Amino acid sequence: MDQLVLVEPGRVELRQVPIPEPGPGEVILRIEAALTCGTDLKTYRRGHPKFKLPMPFGHEFSGTVWALGEGVNQFKLGEPLMLAPTAPCGHCYYCQRQLGNLCAYTMETMIHGGYAQYVRLPRHIVATNTFIKPSGLSFLEAALLEPLSCVVYGAQQMEFNPSSKVLIIGAGPIGLLYVALLRRYGVSQIAVLGRRERRLEAAAQLGAELIFDESQTSRDEVERELYRAWQTLPQVVIECTGLPSVWEEALTWAAPGGQVMFFGGCASGTTFNFPWESVLERNLTLKGAFHFTPQAVAQSYELLASGRLSLAPLISTTLPLSQYPTILSLLESGEYIKIGVLPQN
Ligand SMILES: [Zn+2]
Ligand SMILES: [Zn+2]
Repeated sequence: MDQLVLVEPGRVELRQVPIPEPGPGEVILRIEAALTCGTDLKTYRRGHPKFKLPMPFGHEFSGTVWALGEGVNQFKLGEPLMLAPTAPCGHCYYCQRQLGNLCAYTMETMIHGGYAQYVRLPRHIVATNTFIKPSGLSFLEAALLEPLSCVVYGAQQMEFNPSSKVLIIGAGPIGLLYVALLRRYGVSQIAVLGRRERRLEAAAQLGAELIFDESQTSRDEVERELYRAWQTLPQVVIECTGLPSVWEEALTWAAPGGQVMFFGGCASGTTFNFPWESVLERNLTLKGAFHFTPQAVAQSYELLASGRLSLAPLISTTLPLSQYPTILSLLESGEYIKIGVLPQN
């Protein structure tokens, strides 16, 4: 089978490897669709502190059951599945407190290898974070379960209600998923500050109220517009870029008493600075949200499976895996949002 391997930052190889055999409790998935992700781009450019290279590349995917290991009774051969590529151990300190995202096992046992024709799903992920894909949901949209789970978990960490005023900084896939999710939760006053026409158009399609192209709008202009629409600065600010300058800037956008969610991971070792008054005297709450818990995955699955969250605008185009050089250059260009990767074509 074909498997795209990230050999070192900036270098991938399409390798021929044997189709894996399932061990007890495992499933071999025939991948029908995969998606590119901001984490892929960061890892391709500079590696990743939690991933060891070389490694099979890609972690957002869905497919059909190719082979079943001993003891897997909940799925059938040929059945369409969707999943999150991690799951916690279930019994450590964090797992006992419903904080499976902080369980060390979660990232150590993450599945890599979505840009391949087949992949092995380990036992704990089969048992915890794997679901039957409903027929009304495309394989491409089903592959959004992983990033949606991150965003659902992030939203669970914030306090908001339908009258909250929310600023999302960054119109990449994560920022756009926040737009869709918060709309679904009844929040209508959502502003997006981002770049690139295609992404800002998607923000509008997904229901953002105010959209600002940061390359063409000054801070003063954005602030004036926010005051005109909301009579206040945002009460919730969500940082979705992973740029240290934006981490610093995010604080300055929040209204006194507001919350700032830092969501975009920066390069390893990055620090950021801010004047202490900007946090203390303005009574801000700063939050980080890492990855997701099984509870967030289950909620994300419900949202996708019920058809109550239409995320098609996030998938800009689809290409066969054999065109991986084009896929990577499109990913690097930032012009597209997510690119669907079809390994079987
Ligand atoms: Zn991802
Ligand atoms: Zn654990």
